[in-house]
Amino acid sequence: MPSHVVPKTSFLRRLIPFGLGEVKPTHFRDMLGIVWKNRDNLPYAWKVITRGVCDGCALGVAGLHDWTIKGPHLCMTRLNLLRLNTMPALDHSLLADVSQLAGKRNDELREMGRLAYPMLRERGAKGFRRITWDEAYARMGKKIRATDPKRLAFFITSRGVTNEIYYMSQKVARFLGTGHIDNAARLCHSPSGVAMKQTLGVAASTCSYRDWYGTDLLVFFGSNPANDQPVSTKYLHEAKQFGTKVVLVNPLLEPGMKRYWVPSTASSALFGTDIADYWFPVAQGGDIAFMYGVLRIAVENGWMDEAFLREHCVGWEALKEATLAMDFAELEKNAGLPRASMEEFAKLMQQAKTGVFVWSMGITQHPHGAEGVQMILNLALTRGWVGRNKCGVMPIRGHSSVQGGAEMGAYCTAFPGVKTVNAENAAWLSREYGFDVPSWPGMTAVDMVDACARGELDVFFCLGGNFLRTLPEPDYVARAMENVPVRIHQDIILTDQMFIPAREEVLLLPAKTRYEQDDGGTETSTERRVMFSPEIPRQVGECRAEWKILRELAAAAYPERAHLLGCETGWAMREEIARVVPMYDGIQHLRKTGDAFQYGGPHLCPGGKFETPDGKAHLRAVELPPPAPERMPATPDTNGHANGTNGRLFHVSTRRGKQFNTLIYAEVDPLTGAHRDAVFMAAADAEQLGLKQNDSIALVNDLGRYEGRVFLADLAPGNLQVMWPEGNILIRRGVVAKGGGVPDYNALVTVEKT
Ligand code: SF4
Repeated sequence: MPSHVVPKTSFLRRLIPFGLGEVKPTHFRDMLGIVWKNRDNLPYAWKVITRGVCDGCALGVAGLHDWTIKGPHLCMTRLNLLRLNTMPALDHSLLADVSQLAGKRNDELREMGRLAYPMLRERGAKGFRRITWDEAYARMGKKIRATDPKRLAFFITSRGVTNEIYYMSQKVARFLGTGHIDNAARLCHSPSGVAMKQTLGVAASTCSYRDWYGTDLLVFFGSNPANDQPVSTKYLHEAKQFGTKVVLVNPLLEPGMKRYWVPSTASSALFGTDIADYWFPVAQGGDIAFMYGVLRIAVENGWMDEAFLREHCVGWEALKEATLAMDFAELEKNAGLPRASMEEFAKLMQQAKTGVFVWSMGITQHPHGAEGVQMILNLALTRGWVGRNKCGVMPIRGHSSVQGGAEMGAYCTAFPGVKTVNAENAAWLSREYGFDVPSWPGMTAVDMVDACARGELDVFFCLGGNFLRTLPEPDYVARAMENVPVRIHQDIILTDQMFIPAREEVLLLPAKTRYEQDDGGTETSTERRVMFSPEIPRQVGECRAEWKILRELAAAAYPERAHLLGCETGWAMREEIARVVPMYDGIQHLRKTGDAFQYGGPHLCPGGKFETPDGKAHLRAVELPPPAPERMPATPDTNGHANGTNGRLFHVSTRRGKQFNTLIYAEVDPLTGAHRDAVFMAAADAEQLGLKQNDSIALVNDLGRYEGRVFLADLAPGNLQVMWPEGNILIRRGVVAKGGGVPDYNALVTVEKT
């Protein structure tokens, strides 16, 4: 019987200080590099670090302190992003001929400096020319006024964007008569929002990070917090002192989750921390089958919290029936793990009194993302692990403030307060705003790009982001973006999507960073903490606060109605947010660094009282996704995996290296030692294919050819992983999760030796 216990680091190896000779981040050396990079503006960099709310991930910190640990909270992701906040303006004359810039990578474009002046490129021009803000507003206002609102769309990214920007963007979009407003959360946790809202009545983490401390079982499904939320490793180091067992359900045993050196914790910095206690190498896309298997074993043994299910849930009987109807052979094939593995996991759950389930893109970025989340919720509810201490379900967020995006209403399917877009709620919001709010749900981010391709949009406003790099099939995206008459990119740096011409014109609007933003701003963390980041004044060129640009744009389009926009200042806007989004009441009182509140308190759904119409949690059976061809019959290999690779089709998934979103910070990921062209592969597969470490190979499917090198890893056989966004050339567009609309960032490929 396979055991999924992760072996501890040996005593002798542990004695080697600072992980010398190991693949690991070199935090202290990298910090010196950051100081050097920001040497022209160190005083400002210091203010950002000590006063601002981090613009990296959504773990959440104000200055150097958070609400979970006593010591300092700082990581390399935040330090790497620092340069975006200290760099001077770029040389705008270089934009006069974009062919000179066309071959540059996005990290090279970023290094050129800040976008500091409004720029215009008309059809046929070689590049951009500088224009005044007045001209920019006049052009945009005239065009938008003449545009059918159904042919106008807004996409808002997640880079450092504050709640105020999200709020104003949705208000402006709806003021202009369009429901086409969406944000970057669509591409990551939209399936979580859908499944959680239906099941629990809330669409946010039900617990706090402090619940990790001393919970019996802390399970990470398809997530890699050591890379995506680095300071969480400090939480994990501390949680383990309280006896918490950490379990990974993931195709790859992420090295950073196996062992980590927390730089600000002396013992960990010196000798490292063994984080994961168990690793279940589920096949990519096999999580639902795995969880069904676990549930079936729990049902057969009576390991559920029957009282909780009876008193606080509906739908249990139907779920139980569907689970018992499942065939283990099929579940094993689909999960890529044998029944014994499911039994081991079920037993861990049975032995635990408390548990926290955390998940991320490994679950959501699949065609069955919402069903995967539903199964996580189902499992947690069978043990009553919601609404009490050391228990909860947590869709952990990778980008600062994506949590607030939908809560502020910058979402095509939600008004402020995550209210469904329908006639009744549109009438309510119209009364609040004093203008007619469209009652029709708009297009998702992915739909917007398809609408561009079909010629159904006349004006496309992109606040940050880079569809060219974030969406599958970049050539298609480029053609789609070129097919819009007017594109507007509001950003702080250049990206290569800006160089795609438009049918009429492309405008670049220079934005202030979150720290420069007039009247400060707020961000909401994964644990629902709304944190205030004060204005740290700095003026680069003619940059303006993002919410102000949006407001001025709307006023330019309809000056006669501009007074209805309100929100003349950031303070006035927060007063309005507190009124329109009652769960954010308190935001209007935040004034300085460290001011924060956790909406809903430490636990949502306390005592098993859910925010659904009947106050109960709604368990649901989901369909078992069909097994991918590569998971078809095979003899279990020596590790107990039931899938194997008896053919040449592999399931490839995309992953992150040292990067923040599409901003790549290093050619080699210090957590894994993998280069950007690495193709993560199980040793058993490499052997079967006659490959060894660093061999040049190509992954091929009908969409493209990805050239890379073999990188041997602890990976479930039959699966491969490549870096995102480079791997997008293999990903098929148009395959999105039914619930939520997130693209499926996985593909089937063959492997060729080159
Ligand atoms: S863990 Fe996240 S919130 Fe904390 S410093 Fe790093 S990037 Fe910022």
